[in-house]
Amino acid sequence: MKKPHVLVVPFPQSGHMLPHLDLTHQLLLRGATVTVLVTPKSSPYLEPLRSLHSPEHFKTLILPFPSHPSIPPGVETLQQLPLQALPHMLEALFGLHDPLVDFLNRQPPSDLPDVILGGAFLSPWINKVADAFSLKAIYFLPINAHTISLLWSEEDRGFFDELETATTASYGLVVNTFYELEPEFVECVKTKHLTHHRIWTVGPLLAVKAGADRGGQSSLPPEKVLAWLETCSEDNSVVYIAFGSQIRLTVEQTAALAAALETSGVRFIWAVRDAAKKVNSGDNSGDDVDVIPEGFEERVKDKGLVIRGWAPQTMILEHRAVGSYLTHLGWGSALEGMVGGVVMLAWPMQADHFKNAKLLVDDLGVAVRVGENKDSVPDSGKLAGVLADSVKDDFPERVRLMKLREKGMEAIKEGGSSYNCLDDLVAEMCV
Ligand code: UDP
Repeated sequence: MKKPHVLVVPFPQSGHMLPHLDLTHQLLLRGATVTVLVTPKSSPYLEPLRSLHSPEHFKTLILPFPSHPSIPPGVETLQQLPLQALPHMLEALFGLHDPLVDFLNRQPPSDLPDVILGGAFLSPWINKVADAFSLKAIYFLPINAHTISLLWSEEDRGFFDELETATTASYGLVVNTFYELEPEFVECVKTKHLTHHRIWTVGPLLAVKAGADRGGQSSLPPEKVLAWLETCSEDNSVVYIAFGSQIRLTVEQTAALAAALETSGVRFIWAVRDAAKKVNSGDNSGDDVDVIPEGFEERVKDKGLVIRGWAPQTMILEHRAVGSYLTHLGWGSALEGMVGGVVMLAWPMQADHFKNAKLLVDDLGVAVRVGENKDSVPDSGKLAGVLADSVKDDFPERVRLMKLREKGMEAIKEGGSSYNCLDDLVAEMCV
């Protein structure tokens, strides 16, 4: 059977890039040839794929990041910017259109890809490239069908309207979810929002290489983190606290969380984002964020580990000692938590987090809500109680989460719904 050549164009931000590359790994495992387009600073993301696949099958195209008046020189990922900078980032990336067209024009016809698998945020210009070379355009969305169906039902969303139109005008969509998690929403996206039925649910996408340096170099040597986890003899006794690649807490929020951890007496790993540099600052980005209260670390040194900067998240979540995860509920992180079999304590902050909380807390009952939004300060006493309860074996949300996890792991096994979707996706790319 013919195997496709896929041009992968991920959106440069960990929450998008990492699952998009996890998907790319699955295509490579199924015999596809892949060329990934990134700008220079995103090239390190490709290391795990480079180390696992041969250069004949895994190729890279590195184009300079297009300059933009509102994006400081040297910044090539949304992670270093507040979320409000998204439109500028999208405008800047539009600048990849012409260099990509030039590149494709220089290729012999036999080397042209069959399909572009792009980040949905890039759909307006990727559609143009695909049209110009008669390629299929398929988009990857690192969110779930529940969020897609709610988002696409909202009215007047400014520039998101254009993105939706461009995304739905494509050949098909790939979504990091599994059918059994939300069948009614997958069906809703199919029937209400698409003119065709090509939506492939391929999750939970597993990390290309679970472990140490996924998405960035760990700020603490991973061996140290592992050694600390190994000192925790009891399974599911540690709470992991992290808010993804972008969120930073205010002084009040950090103090409330620190007090809750101290009162609860639980063992914990807390990933604090103070290494996320405050470039082009918007709100929540002054110098007074993520300040751990004085003396806290000394007082809790027998109980907790604070990681300042990038944490080896999947390695932590998959360790047997970790039992719960206080999270912003970014969808990638939520799925990683589910795969790691940890119960999630949800503090949604921005973007799709609120919709994810609705799905996981209110509809499925597999997570607990502990925070309202990025301005709320949790009550330390109440939070301490939930933290302590969350590491108990009979915590009801844990029991339900483990059942859902089982369905997710079935879906990605040979013959499971996500596994079959991946096979089908690769086959469709050549049709
Ligand atoms: N991540 C990580 N270490 C960190 C912060 C984030 O490995 O210190 C990874 C995390 O495992 C996940 C991704 O970065 O794969 C963030 O994804 P998420 O969906 O939470 O998106 P975000 O909210 O960061 O945009």
